[in-house]
Amino acid sequence: MVSEPELLASVPTQLWIGGPVAATGGATFPVENPATGETLIEVADASPEDAMRALDAAVAAQDDWAATPARQRGEILRAVYERIIERTEDFALLMTLEMGKALPESRNEVRYGAEFFRWFSEEAVRIHGRYQTAPTGTGRIMVHKQPVGPCLAITPWNFPLAMGTRKIGPALAAGCTMIVKPASATPLTMLLLARLCSEAGLPDGVLSVITGRRSGAITAPLINDPRLRKLTFTGSTEVGKKLVESSAHGLLRTSMELGGNAPFVVFDDADLDAAVAGAMLAKFRNGGEACTAANRIHVQNSVLAEFTDKFVAAAQGLELGPGADPKTTLGPLVDDQQLETVSELVEDAVAKGAQVRTGGKAPGGPGYFYPATVLSDVPADSRILREEVFGPVAPIVGFDTEEQGLAAANDTQYGLVAYIYTQNLDRALRVAEGLESGMVGINRGVISDPAAPFGGVKESGFGREGGTEGIEEYLSTKYIALP
Ligand code: NAP
Repeated sequence: MVSEPELLASVPTQLWIGGPVAATGGATFPVENPATGETLIEVADASPEDAMRALDAAVAAQDDWAATPARQRGEILRAVYERIIERTEDFALLMTLEMGKALPESRNEVRYGAEFFRWFSEEAVRIHGRYQTAPTGTGRIMVHKQPVGPCLAITPWNFPLAMGTRKIGPALAAGCTMIVKPASATPLTMLLLARLCSEAGLPDGVLSVITGRRSGAITAPLINDPRLRKLTFTGSTEVGKKLVESSAHGLLRTSMELGGNAPFVVFDDADLDAAVAGAMLAKFRNGGEACTAANRIHVQNSVLAEFTDKFVAAAQGLELGPGADPKTTLGPLVDDQQLETVSELVEDAVAKGAQVRTGGKAPGGPGYFYPATVLSDVPADSRILREEVFGPVAPIVGFDTEEQGLAAANDTQYGLVAYIYTQNLDRALRVAEGLESGMVGINRGVISDPAAPFGGVKESGFGREGGTEGIEEYLSTKYIALP
């Protein structure tokens, strides 16, 4: 495994527009290590003019890339997949350094993120149209799928690789060019990916990466430029709404993967040990910094005490520490702001009467550490039941009947994912159908799969990533009428 200084010395830190390019005036900004609060490295800070250079490159490359045979596009994607897997340890360490998560979590993300290139390398050759006789018998209908054109992807920091590859894989497979604007907290992973894509034979301009701190200023001119044909965003609901508003001006096609407030519902007929294991994954995977993280744990009152005791014991087994330390199973939060938000939500619940069963207080010192925390007796008016905590805090609440459990699960403006634990098949299907969410896990604590359609309803957004649905987001449908 490469050492930390060697890795940092070798990663690209300039913008990637057909290769490494300095930002206007050589501007840079610092990337911080959340485990120490210290600067890791300086990265190019793009200007709006730099962003326009990336769009010029994407527009220039678009026609040739769309005309590249699908088999060839697929083979380049497959080569990128192989290269990411070869460099698993480098990507994993890089993500741990810039985002904080424990190394085993980073390795899981490398495998998951890389898989979007393999999956969409296989989907590239399965873009189908349709040909049929019109019902009147007076003509024929041909339906043809074409790439939408140059796309902009704006991605968050919580999965620095996978939130990019989930968009880049299908866009490139469909024949679109793409500009990625990664989160300013975690720009390094995308820059390394761009270099790998180039080494794997991706033509210049097909994928550009613009890093920068002024996200609104550098993305606005792209969104307002009619040459851009699609915006795909993963991030908070608040920013997503602003981007939908600004995209309305040119009726830009958009997909929005936004915030979540996932309920994790345990019924009295569940296998409680399996439910505890599932809740540990759904809550503490990625340090709780996942849009799919269980935000509220609803447990039927007859098994509430037993579930809570077992869950608290399991949460106490997590080892808080720097992500790069092999003993660590729970890394730091991404930054001081996230630490403040998590602390505030816990303090609010406790002030209203919640009981701290474990954790509940940041240890202080350098780095943005917060312990695995379980709260019981959480009052209904606690902010933590309404707002996305995005940290390792599990509020547990009880319910009596199935109807009450379902109503509590649906009592949110979000609708990304919901988890249920029950051994009763009728109940599982009935509740799954009644849940207002884009995804449901039945007796599963992790559901993400590159071969499945990922996405939400309500204020969790619209559009799907992964599965056979994922590539449709980057295709437009043309109807050709024939005699
Ligand atoms: P965020 O603050 O909304 O930022 C996401 C991205 O948008 C970053 O690249 C950010 O750049 C950029 N951005 C911020 N303001 C912008 C503006 N005015 N115009 C253009 N771009 C702007 O979200 P985050 O804190 O990074 O990520 C956490 C959120 O993402 C959570 O709500 C989580 O649920 C959601 N998420 C959703 C999914 C999903 O699939 N549904 C997956 C993962 C995460 P800067 O970094 O420079 O601010």
